[in-house]
Amino acid sequence: MRITIFSESSADEAALKILVEGILGEKVEEEPRKNKLRSRGFASVENELPVVIKSTYYNTDADSLIVVYDSDDEPVHEKKHYGNEAEKCRLCFLQRKISEVVKSLKPRPERNSLKIAFGVAVPAIEAWYLCGTKIPVGEESWKRKLKGEKVGYDRTSLKEEIYGVRPFRQKQIETAIKEAKKLAQNLELLEEKFPEGFSIFANEIRSWKQ
Ligand SMILES: [Zn+2]
Repeated sequence: MRITIFSESSADEAALKILVEGILGEKVEEEPRKNKLRSRGFASVENELPVVIKSTYYNTDADSLIVVYDSDDEPVHEKKHYGNEAEKCRLCFLQRKISEVVKSLKPRPERNSLKIAFGVAVPAIEAWYLCGTKIPVGEESWKRKLKGEKVGYDRTSLKEEIYGVRPFRQKQIETAIKEAKKLAQNLELLEEKFPEGFSIFANEIRSWKQ
């Protein structure tokens, strides 16, 4: 399987490749993005995501695309959101945006359609890395945090726990890879703690296996 990965940093993308391999139980080949990103992060998703989908579809040999964003302080996705356009949840936003872009794609001669799996890490991908540690990460605990409860972690503490304060970029990538390798050994717990932002994403990827 040839995949293109689009997330908020090179470190996140390196980790996601390992997680995808863990989900599939096989190695994948990464097809680098063909477009230059002008900026990263959710603030530029509206502009960058359509470009990434189109350039992956038209200009690469990738058969699948992985898209993962952090939820930051936006609402955690719940099933009751479906069909409600007003929801500020990032998972719902990605769902709408991706289906809008996919509808606009022209058929590729002798090629299958591009498979796309998208997820949202609550509140950031570092929470996934800390799953199974003493820090009580998970979508349920973060929902309580958004209501003002103290849950023992916040976005800054998650990043510091993983990377320390002000890490170098290369060091971040190495750390993310190390954490993802550990995590790939315990995907069941990750799916249990992150049922909307990770489990649905993982199931979509599993459905790609023939
Ligand atoms: Zn939602």
